[in-house]
Amino acid sequence: NKTVYTFGGAADHSDPRQADKTVTGGKGANLAEMARIGLPVPPGFTITTEECVRYLQEGADFSDDLRGQVAEALKHIEATVGKKFGDASDPLLVSVRSGARVSMPGMMDTVLNLGLNDETVQGLASASGDERFAWDSYRRFIQMYSDVVLGLDHGLFEEALEITKEDNDYYADTEMTADDWKTLVAEYKSLAEEELGHPFPQDVHEQLWGAIKAVFDSWDSDRAKVYRRLNDIPADWGTAVNVQAMVFGNMGDTSATGVAFTRDPATGEKAYYGEYLINAQGEDVVAGIRTPQYLTKAAREAANAKPLSMEEAMPEPYAELAHVFDLLEKHYKDMQDIEFTVQQGKLWMLQTRSGKRTAKAALKLAVDMVGEGLIDEKTAIRRVDPMALDQLLHPTLDPEAKRDVLTSGLPASPGAASGKIVLDADTAENWAQRGEKVILVRVETSPEDIHGMHAAQGILTARGGMTSHAAVVARGMGRPCVSGASQVSIDRQAKTLLIGNRELKEGDTITLDGGNGQVMAGEVPTIEPELAGDFARLMEWADKHRRMRVRTNAETPHDCRMARQFGAEGIGLCRTEHMFFDAGRISAVREMILADDERGRRVALEKLLPEQRKDFREIFEVMVGLPCTIRLLDPPLHEFLPHGHAEFEELANATGVGIDHLKRRAGELHEFNPMLGHRGCRLGITFPEIYEMQARAIFEAACEVARESGEAPVPEIMIPLVATKRELELLKALVDRVAKQVFEEQGASVEYLVGTMIELPRAALMAGEIAEEGAFFSFGTNDLTQTTLGVSRDDSARFLAPYVDKGIFPRDPFVSLDIDGVGQLVELAAERGRATRPDIKLGICGEHGGDPASIDFCEKVGLDYVSASPYRVPIARLAAAQASL
Ligand code: PEP
Ligand code: MG
Repeated sequence: NKTVYTFGGAADHSDPRQADKTVTGGKGANLAEMARIGLPVPPGFTITTEECVRYLQEGADFSDDLRGQVAEALKHIEATVGKKFGDASDPLLVSVRSGARVSMPGMMDTVLNLGLNDETVQGLASASGDERFAWDSYRRFIQMYSDVVLGLDHGLFEEALEITKEDNDYYADTEMTADDWKTLVAEYKSLAEEELGHPFPQDVHEQLWGAIKAVFDSWDSDRAKVYRRLNDIPADWGTAVNVQAMVFGNMGDTSATGVAFTRDPATGEKAYYGEYLINAQGEDVVAGIRTPQYLTKAAREAANAKPLSMEEAMPEPYAELAHVFDLLEKHYKDMQDIEFTVQQGKLWMLQTRSGKRTAKAALKLAVDMVGEGLIDEKTAIRRVDPMALDQLLHPTLDPEAKRDVLTSGLPASPGAASGKIVLDADTAENWAQRGEKVILVRVETSPEDIHGMHAAQGILTARGGMTSHAAVVARGMGRPCVSGASQVSIDRQAKTLLIGNRELKEGDTITLDGGNGQVMAGEVPTIEPELAGDFARLMEWADKHRRMRVRTNAETPHDCRMARQFGAEGIGLCRTEHMFFDAGRISAVREMILADDERGRRVALEKLLPEQRKDFREIFEVMVGLPCTIRLLDPPLHEFLPHGHAEFEELANATGVGIDHLKRRAGELHEFNPMLGHRGCRLGITFPEIYEMQARAIFEAACEVARESGEAPVPEIMIPLVATKRELELLKALVDRVAKQVFEEQGASVEYLVGTMIELPRAALMAGEIAEEGAFFSFGTNDLTQTTLGVSRDDSARFLAPYVDKGIFPRDPFVSLDIDGVGQLVELAAERGRATRPDIKLGICGEHGGDPASIDFCEKVGLDYVSASPYRVPIARLAAAQASL
């Protein structure tokens, strides 16, 4: 297989492997595609991701074959441009960039102007007729190469530049003269030599291979690994390397560089959106060193900004750019994120890709594009990442609430966040781990801050534009972000923050409004999200295209109501034990547990009955007409016991039983391994009176609601932790007996089902037999994962992260179902259950019921429904639709 593909000029773009992102990476595939459809792309070549994987596996060595293919590809660039790499009179310069399948911060980014050395810089100066440009390019190259390839501290170089500017009384880099740059280059070179112990590389081929190596190595950098883990990107994808002829945005005032989106990536509005800088190179825009200017006149006017927009300052290249935007959107049928350069009036395209977008924009884009006839409903459904909906479902700041506005920055990523100020990523992570909400405040962020950004509720930066690192990463993570709040000055030593004239310190609470860029003191109240409009439209399409039903895990009327608003079609799991913890009844629960005998337990259960009946009534009322799966008591009883002497004393006073006796009874309930102990249906087998009370409460409530509302609920009574058919047989008989009694007493009846959870490996294996007794199965994949893997769901956090890092599990198996292992048990139980009882109802109620990858699996197995927590219901609806397509 070819490992190097050329693009641009007379290159042959017909090999389908070149258009395959898995082979040439996102950037390489799209550059070739743009060249293929005739857009102006500087010529270049791509080394495949496969070569990267081979290089990393085989010990970081370049093969002769690769060297040969690269030499050939360089000739292609040379022939197209008409310059030679390393030519002292008129050198070809190249850029080197990484490019994985998906864009991935944390990897080596870009080296520009590669091919400059003490000789070629002279050639560049005479060939371009611009000495200042040549030496500016050389110093940029040394600085970038030293930073990203040689690993030197870029602060050293920045400092030297700042000192030169100060000495000369300059404000902007543009004031630096050719001689100033020349002097600075000499200084840079000696700085590099001092740090490296040898001179800065002068051989252009050594420079090139150094950069290629740095790209490959950066795939395994710590930063890249963290990003991969957070985004579920497999370690074996590798990155491609793109080498491309340089075009220069820093060749005077008819040159420029910029980044743009074909629509607004924050709101989805149909308006070109972007930033550009005259007489600059790409890095200047992204790094936030100079403040970029607006692309369009309308945007500039809306922001009341003075410097001319590109539309005004460079009307011709702008018109061509706008034309390219339209072509690209029609070609890719999606919003594009673009990098471009104008060299002396001529437009060049350096990158295009599907643009990252906020959830709000993703929705609007999908819905609008269906309206425009660009895509169909099914494509729209596929376009929106279900997990991104999470951003939309959470509250935003109450517009009526008082705001003590400290300052404003750019609205870089929407949403509202309040939290305590922290000034570095490690502190953010530490505080978040102990349960604090934090806002990470930085001058600007870099890939080293990613873990802190992830731990934070929101991000505030003093520098950087809408396309700065902080802005891009925050949008991707769904964290609210305000960037470029220039009034913020940070003193990291003192751990204080000056905003205008207000001093704040680490630990003070602030609130960010990522929708308008405001930064406020204290915590500002929030309101519930808007679920109409684009959201409702997309959900309507999703509902039309999905097969599986979506229920919710809920046990309070409030959660049930919320879940219904989010579109839940029933309750998949009502965990009745949560009702036992209510302040009003915990003492009756404790009295029941600590009673000496059945008679004592029944006295206490009598007190609980009316309370439980009320619970179920309220739930049936909210869920009227929808199925409700109610699970009988599951956890080990000692979870309800009093903590500490004071609580025992209180219980002793309430029950009149001696405190020593109570404590001894509590001691008797101790278990070494309660998760595998006296819990689940084992409680119902040993203390049937508990399940009797619960069944009675359910049936009485159902009869009452049926009588009052005219519409009967259909309770589905679920027995937990069943391992054998006999357990279910005994408990089903108990439930039927109670139903009969209640119906006789009430002179009325309701339909009901009795079924079981499948949450033990034995239950899955024996599902054929168990289905003889159970009308439905609900997969309790939390316990099923725990018992299949032999990994405790409560204690595994300590080793699961390293397990994921090392690729032992692709993802945390308690978050995303272990399809290979646990999935087999689910599939097998579904098959065996159906063989016995063809109309058996099958669902899932473990956490996995709200995880898109697991939902996709549930569709494949043919489950009837998934059940998720209320906020996850819309995610599940969309994921179920995607799984059906
Ligand atoms: C399960 O085990 O997957 C389940 C839903 O029950 P719980 O989480 O209450 O144990
Ligand atoms: Mg369970």
